Amino acid sequence: GGFQSLALSPEVMRGVMLMGYRVPTPVQRKSLPVTLTNVDTVVMARTGSGKTAAFLIPVLEKLKEHSTKMGVRSVILSPSRELALQTLTFVKKMGRFTSLRFALLVGGDSMDKQFEALANNPDVIIATPGRLMHHLQEVPDFTLKAVEIVVFDEADRLFEMGFAEQLREVMRTVPERRQTLLFSATMPKQLVQFARAGLQDPVLIRL
Ligand code: AMP
Repeated sequence: GGFQSLALSPEVMRGVMLMGYRVPTPVQRKSLPVTLTNVDTVVMARTGSGKTAAFLIPVLEKLKEHSTKMGVRSVILSPSRELALQTLTFVKKMGRFTSLRFALLVGGDSMDKQFEALANNPDVIIATPGRLMHHLQEVPDFTLKAVEIVVFDEADRLFEMGFAEQLREVMRTVPERRQTLLFSATMPKQLVQFARAGLQDPVLIRL
């Protein structure tokens, strides 16, 4: 049940080693065999459980190499700019041996800087929902048509912050054929309904 048994590609495995991880955490051990098979998954996990690596490993494994042609292939939604920034720092390190490009789109930063980041053809976008939608409206070439994997991180907090409408908009904007991963510490009714509407036969992982 170690990372070895997951048959990760060498560049992703090297990233995991660079992070210093030897054994998967319980959340990782339970979720990775599922998420790595491309199925929609709801993972009940809190901060400190190793949830960030649990969703970044499938993202890195699925995309692996930079593509200038394909456009953005993964979107990771965070409830706050601080969490988004942490996730960016994390994925830059764990993804060091891939050729993937990452961009941060969060409220409070200058739009100009983020236009530049988008012009650099990122493969993965880490965003807060409001700013993501703002860019989609402002930048004609920026679409989510090529997205293969969407992650909702701390989904309960995304709802608490009042992002419900933006989250539904994101769901409408990404292709129907995609993988969706939803990570949340709690599953309030509103979130269960959102998952029912937006995820396809999701597997539920809880410890
Ligand atoms: P998170 O729940 O994603 O905020 O992660 C909590 C902390 O656990 C972070 O410092 C991670 O780098 C660390 N971590 C995640 N997975 C592992 C692992 N398999 N082994 C050791 N530390 C880990």
